[in-house]
Amino acid sequence: MKIKKLLIANRGEISLRIIKSVKEMGIQTVAVFSEADRNSPHVLAADEAICIGPAPASESYLRMDKIIQAAKDLQADAIHPGYGFLSENAEFAEKVVAAGITFVGPSSDSIALMGSKLEAKKAVSAYDIPLVPGTDEPIQRVELAKHIAAEIGYPILIKASAGGGGKGMRIVQDEQEFDAQMERATSEAQSAFGDPAVFIEKYIESPKHIEIQLLGDQHGNMVYLFERECSIQRRHQKVIEEAPSPVLTPEIRKKMGEAAILVGKSCGYYGAGTVEFLVDKNLDFYFLEMNTRLQVEHPVTECITGLDLVKEQIKIAEGARLSISQENLQIHGHAIEARIYAEDPENQFLPDTGTLITYTPPKGPGIRVDDGFEEGMPIPIHYDPMIAKLTVHAETRELAIEKMKQALVDFKISGIKTTIPFCHYVMTHPQFTSGAFTTKFVENYFEPSKLQPVLSSEEMLVMAAFAVYWKEEQGYTSSHQLSQPFENASKSSWKTRKIR
Ligand code: ADP
Ligand code: ADP
Ligand code: MG
Repeated sequence: MKIKKLLIANRGEISLRIIKSVKEMGIQTVAVFSEADRNSPHVLAADEAICIGPAPASESYLRMDKIIQAAKDLQADAIHPGYGFLSENAEFAEKVVAAGITFVGPSSDSIALMGSKLEAKKAVSAYDIPLVPGTDEPIQRVELAKHIAAEIGYPILIKASAGGGGKGMRIVQDEQEFDAQMERATSEAQSAFGDPAVFIEKYIESPKHIEIQLLGDQHGNMVYLFERECSIQRRHQKVIEEAPSPVLTPEIRKKMGEAAILVGKSCGYYGAGTVEFLVDKNLDFYFLEMNTRLQVEHPVTECITGLDLVKEQIKIAEGARLSISQENLQIHGHAIEARIYAEDPENQFLPDTGTLITYTPPKGPGIRVDDGFEEGMPIPIHYDPMIAKLTVHAETRELAIEKMKQALVDFKISGIKTTIPFCHYVMTHPQFTSGAFTTKFVENYFEPSKLQPVLSSEEMLVMAAFAVYWKEEQGYTSSHQLSQPFENASKSSWKTRKIR
């Protein structure tokens, strides 16, 4: 059945991104917003908008009752949950369906199964899919768990079964640390996810995180839209993603794609979903978890496949059959996404707060910016500190890296610290450009003291001219004393500039 009016149960860039795609399909849109987001672009972009409560997410974007009531009041016949918030909440999906509204996503049973990392591993173990060695039940007796940990071999990872967003994980280096870390992990799991269940996994020392995008319809057809390499992370959460991976061979790509489809089949999956794997240096891969929603980094997959994943989600929710087949899918070029967070990379990526005094995103062929803010807007402290996603698409990885570097230089944000200088640092680092990087990149190769302010050639010219002016004032001669970056700037143009 065709969807006529869609309520987007989310905020910021993802809400705006969904609104844009579905409007092209002739679908009416309803935005929801908290009191902190009254003037947000996603609210203005929708055909209708409705306030669902005060700023804290627990009183607005996480309120299932208010969201479903809003859909009823405005006669929306479908709800898209975006990512984060209620997107992986099985109870929400169930309530939406019970209210006679289409849920744009998988069944509530698939969400419940994959929402528990332990249940997911159990479901998958019936198939020939490699798993990270570990316990398959929640830890009840610490002594037994220690015994298993010794068998697996330290270091190990204690993980929250209900975990997400990189939270609820504790590395244990040796047996002495076990009790203390176990206690922390359990209480963290309880407070962050309302579920104290934790389990043990072998800590893979220096893996790559590579995930497979799936698309399945409600008639049992499923395809994989290749991989995304997401190893550049801080706090176990991604900052830079790319497609395709610089290291996979076509054979391993196919093997991982087919394994991901088995994971999807193990939970009767339909919709867009992502199967995450850890990959070691021998390119052996291990199932990590499945995310039963649209992923933050889905734009890189859209770039290399030419598909609009939101439109595909809508068609699947309407009951249509997939219009694509595995044989017809091809990788076109290379795409890289940089997540621009309001965080200070010089200070352990701690969130920064403030107002976007300047906000000018880059433009140009092969450049895509997904954002939900405008110049002058404050970044609310209540939500995830992501400001924008910058995605570039080019013919080769090398060209994509060059395009990304320039786009980062052209991305002008002031008033708030961002991950822009960090992303630029990564693009110029030989470990990244070689493709050999792992999830340990930040720990092993990131030197905050080497971060450079990311300046455009225009800004460098102005600075160079100032430097010349200043040096002449001081009695120095002229331009040949300028340091490296300035020397690269075109001298003929700065000579003609008047700076006072
Ligand atoms: P992805 O897995 O799509 O790459 P993230 O891991 O960054 O993206 O998570 C997606 C979004 O959902 C982020 O905004 C993150 O903060 C949020 N998120 C994910 N899982 C949880 C959770 N269990 N509780 C709260 N927020 C979460
Ligand atoms: P989340 O639900 O928070 O996304 P994941 O299980 O997907 O949790 O793990 C997030 C990240 O933590 C991975 O991308 C990886 O960097 C790291 N990680 C998770 N499990 C392991 C492991 N067993 N060994 C090494 N690193 C791991
Ligand atoms: Mg994950």
